[in-house]
Amino acid sequence: MIGAIAGDIIGSVYEFDPAKTKDFQPLFHPRAHFTDDTVLTVAVADSLLHDRDPVAAFKDWGHRYPDCGWGGTFAYWLFSDRTEPYGSFGNGAAMRISPVGLVAGSLDRAHALSDRFTRITHDHPEGLKGAAATVTAILLCRKGKSTLTCEEIRCLIEVGYGYDLSRSVAQIRPGYGFDETCQGTVPEAITCALEASDFEDAVRNAVSLGGDADTLGAITGGIAEARFGVPRVIAEEVRKRLPQDMQEIMEALYERAGTACPWQTST
Ligand SMILES: [Mg+2]
Repeated sequence: MIGAIAGDIIGSVYEFDPAKTKDFQPLFHPRAHFTDDTVLTVAVADSLLHDRDPVAAFKDWGHRYPDCGWGGTFAYWLFSDRTEPYGSFGNGAAMRISPVGLVAGSLDRAHALSDRFTRITHDHPEGLKGAAATVTAILLCRKGKSTLTCEEIRCLIEVGYGYDLSRSVAQIRPGYGFDETCQGTVPEAITCALEASDFEDAVRNAVSLGGDADTLGAITGGIAEARFGVPRVIAEEVRKRLPQDMQEIMEALYERAGTACPWQTST
C-alpha cells in the first residue's frame, strides 16, 4: 500500500511533463504530492478495515480531498448522487487496489475483494482484469520471496490475463505515450516492477516511461513493495506528505496485515 502511494507521489510532477529517463533528480521533487491514486487507495483500506460499503468509502474520501486530479467521468460519479458503475476500463481500477494485496491471504480471496472494489465503477472486463492482474502480481511477488522467480511470475500473468509482458522497460519507453486505460498501463507497470533491482529502481522504471506517471508509479509501487519492501527513508518521505487521517488508516491496515507500517520500522 505505501509502495503505491510512494509511486503516486514520486510520479505526480511528471504526469504532464514526462521524464523519459530513470535518472530524474531528486527522487521526491519539491512539488511532489499525493493525488487521486492515493486518496482512493486509502479509501479501499478504510473499507477493508471498517467493513465500510465501498461506494460510501470512496465518496467520503473524495469529498475530503476534492482537488486531487480526479478524472472527468470518475469525478462526475464521485461528486454526484450516482452509485451505479459506468463501464470504465480506466487504470483507476488498478491504481487503488494494493491494500487488497496486502491483507488477502489467498489468490481466491484477493480476486473476490478486487472485483468487489472494482465493479462499483470499472465494471468493463478490462477494468476488472486490470485490478485482478495487479493483485495477482502482488500476491505472487509476496509468495515469490521464497518460491517463484520473476520469469515464473511473468509467465503466470501472461497466461492468466493475456497481457504481453515480453518487452523490457527500455523497449517500451520510446513508443510509450499517455494512456489511461488498464490495458495500456497495467502490463507496463508489471514489467517495471518485475524488471527492477530494488523498490526505488521499480518506481524509476515507471516514471521513466512517461505517460500517466503517477498512476504507473502507483501500480508499479504496489507490486514492487511486495517484491522488495519499501525502504524506511522512502516511507518517511511519504509520511511527511500525508495528512493525519491517511496516516492513521495506513498504520491500521499494516497492523491488520500483521506487519509494521514501513515508516515505523527501524531499517
Ligand atoms: Mg493521479
